[in-house]
Amino acid sequence: MMSGDRHGGSTVYENVVAQFDRAAETMGLDPSIRKILATTANEVVVHFPVRLDSGKIEMFTGYRVQHNNALGPYKGGLRYHPAVDIDEVRALATWMTWKSAIVDIPFGGAKGGVQCDPSKYSQAELERLTRRFAFALGSNIGPEYDIPAPDVNTNAQTMAWILDTYLSMMPPQERNRCVHVVTGKPIEAGGSLGREKATGQGIAYCIEQWSKDRSFDLSSATCFVQGFGNVGSWAARLLRPLGVTLVAAEDHTGAVAHPAGIDPDRLAQYVRERGGVAGFPGAKPVDHRGFLSTKADIFVPAALENQITKETAPLLTVRLVAEGANGPTDIEGDRILQERKIDLIPDILCNSGGVIVSYFEWLQNKRSESWDLEEVDAKLRRRILGGYDRVRAAAEEFKTDWRTAAYVVALRRLHTVYTRRGIFP
Ligand code: NAD
Repeated sequence: MMSGDRHGGSTVYENVVAQFDRAAETMGLDPSIRKILATTANEVVVHFPVRLDSGKIEMFTGYRVQHNNALGPYKGGLRYHPAVDIDEVRALATWMTWKSAIVDIPFGGAKGGVQCDPSKYSQAELERLTRRFAFALGSNIGPEYDIPAPDVNTNAQTMAWILDTYLSMMPPQERNRCVHVVTGKPIEAGGSLGREKATGQGIAYCIEQWSKDRSFDLSSATCFVQGFGNVGSWAARLLRPLGVTLVAAEDHTGAVAHPAGIDPDRLAQYVRERGGVAGFPGAKPVDHRGFLSTKADIFVPAALENQITKETAPLLTVRLVAEGANGPTDIEGDRILQERKIDLIPDILCNSGGVIVSYFEWLQNKRSESWDLEEVDAKLRRRILGGYDRVRAAAEEFKTDWRTAAYVVALRRLHTVYTRRGIFP
């Protein structure tokens, strides 16, 4: 789904604006602060050439939008996808600001990406594309200024190329103090234990807490997951030890279902080997509507935006939607979930595990430390559940839905910072 497409609903950035307005009204946000936060700070668009394996040159367009840095350096992922455009990147950058504010980490919000279909390029072409993109961004990123991380169709390898390119542009004596220019790096190149699974781990911690709040027994629960990449596959794998059975999964190759249960570790292995969930033995193919109508307790959307809409929200029969993706629910979708009394753990809280452990990686790099996995997981759990508690309290205080409550938590924090610091000059 192209993000700018209206599909009868709203664009992704329109969703952000509507969510923001609703929260600002609910809490009575100061109009001056509202003006500041409704606007992105910087928007960088670069056009750059890449030599393909054939010897031909192709031009690409890359983006980096920096929404706000009142709480700390700009922070957010880089996405490679045909639907990447300024509207989508603006929305994703804005969500990053709220996310860091909710879980109380000293980062601002940014996002970026390249408009391309990475499946059409060889590894060598992707490496050249990534390095040229990093070169084109130049000093618009930096370890104390703006710190990219992986997102859709990018991974630890992509980050290693950016790191190497960025360091190569530095004077030799400066290089080793700039390793924190990206997070989500390979462990050997300054990455953190637990970063790869961090977003899925955070989702599992949130769902566990939700089950306690609702006195809902997870040990016989079922879930289905849309997107079986980093976030979706790790969420399914980490929910399993809590007793949650995966009964269906969908990705860009199709959807598969098996009411008795799909082994998420085997499915992840299959996706690594075959590139998608389609054809997974031991599960039956289902169409998109059939997938969304899956009988289960929990739905984890972990693919792209605008998946739960006026058309699809009525199909869901679950008790909980735990948003792994950014912006999977549009405004109408939200309204229908509320009407149908389906609980929601909103993206800006639910998928914040990634940025939390990115923060830990950044800290470890700055201090030349490496933390063990138990330490990373324990700190992640404390941080994300701290955010969860604040959102629950705001939902009770304002008698509002959880998405609006999550915004209220973020906006309050930013409001306090602006009030204390004042506006220059
Ligand atoms: P990924 O590239 O690893 O996986 C994306 C998945 O989505 C793939 O399984 C792909 O097949 C699937 N997909 C693509 N188009 C689809 C379609 N039309 N229908 C169904 N499935 C489709 O990306 P990821 O890092 O797992 O990111 C997934 C979502 O989570 C994105 O919204 C991203 O912004 C968000 N997110 C990621 C992180 C992170 O740490 N990687 C953190 C927070 C939020």
